[in-house]
Amino acid sequence: MGKRVVLALGGNALGDNLAEQMLAVRDAASALVDLVEEGYEIVIVHGNGPQVGMINLAMEAAAKTPEDYIPMATCVAMSQGYIGYDIQNALREELLKRGINKPVATIITQTLVDDKDPAFSNPTKPIGGFFSKEEAEKLRAQGEAVMEDAGRGWRRVIASPKPIGIVEYEIIESMLKMGQIPVTVGGGGIPVAKDGEYRLCGMSAVVDKDFASAKLAELLDADMLVILTAVEKVAINFGKSNEEWLSALTIEQAKAYIAEEHFAKGSMLPKVEAAMAFAQTKPGRKALITLLSKAKDGLAGKTGTVISQ
Ligand code: ADP
Ligand code: MG
Repeated sequence: MGKRVVLALGGNALGDNLAEQMLAVRDAASALVDLVEEGYEIVIVHGNGPQVGMINLAMEAAAKTPEDYIPMATCVAMSQGYIGYDIQNALREELLKRGINKPVATIITQTLVDDKDPAFSNPTKPIGGFFSKEEAEKLRAQGEAVMEDAGRGWRRVIASPKPIGIVEYEIIESMLKMGQIPVTVGGGGIPVAKDGEYRLCGMSAVVDKDFASAKLAELLDADMLVILTAVEKVAINFGKSNEEWLSALTIEQAKAYIAEEHFAKGSMLPKVEAAMAFAQTKPGRKALITLLSKAKDGLAGKTGTVISQ
């Protein structure tokens, strides 16, 4: 059996609009099928930042009354559907072209979060359109979190809680056992919290896709979490004259570099933290951060930054 790897695709694997997405997924499919040919058991996770923002704006525009407002959890579900469709379609074509008979499917996936997560009392992620101060005050009176966004106007803000479980992970596990390729936990998964014993309730939140991928990799007992982004390696002194690209990073080193603020909040920091979260669950578990086009070389130990205990 091949090595099991969870691959988290960053924003540049999907582009900023649908036309870009349909082209970008072809390159992604080619790089991913290379890994299948190498014998890896792959699980594909993707981001959804621009896509879910667009859906949220479209739903806001279509809403005639506040009751028509489509919650964030539903927008994430929609984004999983249409991004997953593009990825599974492109992968299917690439597999068939290379004579590989492996079914691919997207699983609409829910990510369990704790409704007492401190992130809910401090929502920080702006979403959707802009409002005037008066409109924002009305929304606040209706119980919605709003914040001024960098002098551009007022926006809804939502929380980014930590994933504590992946509801459908056993289905992903069975797909892998059958030799199938799952596209899952898109956009970090649909955030849900327990409401009583059986019900899961969609939350106004977004889960970071790198943290959700780390949780999925842990539950699937994956050999490696692979975070594919816009840089080949992680750097210290990033963008400065003494910039240094790292090939390997222990958890202790990573902690020290985080304390020295080498990794930008909202971009590289969550990736390094997600990589550490997976690597520290068990000795031998590793995380790799590199470019999509370097995934094969990175897994072969030729490039990228490997985070381990
Ligand atoms: P994604 O869409 O893949 O999640 P992001 O744009 O959020 O990607 O994060 C990756 C970016 O983080 C890189 O393109 C790079 O500009 C930036 N970055 C910030 N700090 C660092 C660092 N220390 N080393 C490497 N890249 C960094
Ligand atoms: Mg990002």
